[in-house]
Amino acid sequence: MKLRFLCKAFGLLAPWLAVPGAAAALRVATLHPLLSDLAQQVGGPQVAVLALVAPGVDVHHFSPSPQHMEQLAGADLVLASGKQLENYLGKLRDNLRPGQTLLEVGKSIPSLELSEAAALLESPGLEHRHGGVDPHWWNSAENMQRAARVLATAFAQADAPQAAAYQANAAAYAKRLSELKQWARREFSKIPPEQRKLATAHLSLGYFAQEFGFRLIPVQGLNPEIPATSQDLAAAVDTIRRSKVRAVFPEQGVNPKLLAKIASETGVTFAGQLIADGNGTGPLASFAGAFEHNVKEIVRALAP
Ligand SMILES: [Zn+2]
Repeated sequence: MKLRFLCKAFGLLAPWLAVPGAAAALRVATLHPLLSDLAQQVGGPQVAVLALVAPGVDVHHFSPSPQHMEQLAGADLVLASGKQLENYLGKLRDNLRPGQTLLEVGKSIPSLELSEAAALLESPGLEHRHGGVDPHWWNSAENMQRAARVLATAFAQADAPQAAAYQANAAAYAKRLSELKQWARREFSKIPPEQRKLATAHLSLGYFAQEFGFRLIPVQGLNPEIPATSQDLAAAVDTIRRSKVRAVFPEQGVNPKLLAKIASETGVTFAGQLIADGNGTGPLASFAGAFEHNVKEIVRALAP
């Protein structure tokens, strides 16, 4: 995949991603790195993708610049994650020109309410925020399969002559994800059921925990930017000790200091870093790359 720079005037401008030599019929702008990956999987050579959020960027804090807004004018379709992740969508919608469509992909995916997510927690007191929806729907192979179908339908509506190709790409990608999911289940079977507990910085793996049967210990709650109080910390240390948790997992993009402190205080393993916000780089920028990496790190730390 080569990068074609429409404009080099601003270092922050996003490149359009297209297959070299292919005349893309559809121009799709994305507001989440994993949607860039998915749009390429489903769109193939017929779609040029404008990845507004570059790999590695924090999706919780991204906000489009005026230059990004200008670039959006070149897109036929804009893909957002939805589920309240992008608090700027109202402003973005107001700036769309006639004929442009904004699609919140997460709208078609069943939500994990934070009240339900509490049932996945090893200790309910660890979640500081009440109400609302867990935005991290991308941490589920099944949700990615759903999202692939949503994109195939949207691409087919916007570019009817290629409808069959989009459906076929989505089906092939969904099959690959099914295989990945089966592989993950086989890997996780190496972890004794009572050890299937993920202590991380923020509540980012709710959909993942639901899909693969893990309990969660998000030390800093939903938002890692809200500093944990000494009571939160004490509760986390207590839960980790009481539940005989084997490891704590730092997350890409979140300061690991607090987790390192908890690991040394409790004597548990400080495991390899997980990619929980779709913010991996290089081979870990894709869903499949990040997912495979996470499964391996979890098994490495939790299997006896
Ligand atoms: Zn997150």
